[in-house]
Amino acid sequence: MAVAAGSPAPHAPGTSGASITPVRAAVTEGKGAPFVFENLELDTALRPDEVLVKVVATGVCQTDIHVRDQALPVPLPAVLGHEGAGVVERVGDGVTSVAPGDRVVMSYQACGHCRPCRSGNPAYCAVSFPANFGGARLDGSNALRRTPEAGGGEIHGHFFGQSSFATHALATERNVVKVDDGIPLELLAPLGCGLQTGAGAVLNSLRIPAGASVVVIGTGTVGLAAVMAAKATGAAPVIAVDIVPERLALAAELGATHTVNAKDEDTAARIAEITGGGADYVLEITARPEMLTLAVDALAPLGTAALIGGAPAGARAEVDMNALLGGRTVRGIAQGDSVPQLFIPQLIELYKAGRFPFDRLITPYGFDEINEAVEDTRTGAVIKPVLRIGDPDVS
Ligand SMILES: [Zn+2]
Ligand SMILES: [Zn+2]
Repeated sequence: MAVAAGSPAPHAPGTSGASITPVRAAVTEGKGAPFVFENLELDTALRPDEVLVKVVATGVCQTDIHVRDQALPVPLPAVLGHEGAGVVERVGDGVTSVAPGDRVVMSYQACGHCRPCRSGNPAYCAVSFPANFGGARLDGSNALRRTPEAGGGEIHGHFFGQSSFATHALATERNVVKVDDGIPLELLAPLGCGLQTGAGAVLNSLRIPAGASVVVIGTGTVGLAAVMAAKATGAAPVIAVDIVPERLALAAELGATHTVNAKDEDTAARIAEITGGGADYVLEITARPEMLTLAVDALAPLGTAALIGGAPAGARAEVDMNALLGGRTVRGIAQGDSVPQLFIPQLIELYKAGRFPFDRLITPYGFDEINEAVEDTRTGAVIKPVLRIGDPDVS
């Protein structure tokens, strides 16, 4: 609900209207600290490209946990959350692709005008880090703060252009995707990061053909999305590697033709045995340096190892230099090369056709259960927690 102006906040040039929206948010106060709920103020005097979204549901992603634990240097205190979905409440003067009342999934942020953005590769935006992890808009301004009664201090917002661990999110036209009415938003929310990352690696980045051999190391949300996409595209064999038996069993149900428990088995030997000497594609999602080394070692000539998981800042891995001379490629992939407004509707169509059953990965939690959801992800008890934050029918 938008509250009329009267705010002491100055208005930036080019804003449309002036208002403060009270939000309830799960705040990350310090390194490794549990999420705490606070009532905050969101300055919703919208810039021309901004979209105010009433949040209905938000997925919890490993990146939120990495940031909470400061493996990535996001300024704190902050409101995290970057797999939000909800209903558009208001739009800035320049927004044409969505309107109030539209149901949207929010995705990652990009500047929209650098060379990668202009060439259709917003996942590799030249200012991707500040745009997603800077805790502010790219011009340094920040719409989120504590209430005057709570001292009015700064809380970093704009995480992935949304900060959706909150009842309202301030997104932009660039990172919202309009979705139709048929599927609950609490299912669609994780499409904006984890699901598009895994599926996009297979379908967009690598364009894995039918019959290619694929290894997926790490079967959380991203890995299982990759397994489903590999099956959908006709790849075989599809080999899932993990150390959690329940996850490997789910991978087999979702399309893995073989599973390898890296704790009990010699992973490299098993991959060589199953593929007859090496894999065409290895997707490395655990972000552990020794697993990237293994991924390259497991490749057939001309094969590609793709690094998809986010490693701690400064992480390095060893790669067999002579292996690369066999025509092998190592590449990194961000967000599955997804242009969200194009790719998320494609994933929804695959889901409707029964070929991308990502609902199998999702466990719903109440918003106030966020700390339990994080703990259950960390222990592997659930794959993809989604927080129920608001009712789509109540504005
Ligand atoms: Zn850019
Ligand atoms: Zn994520």
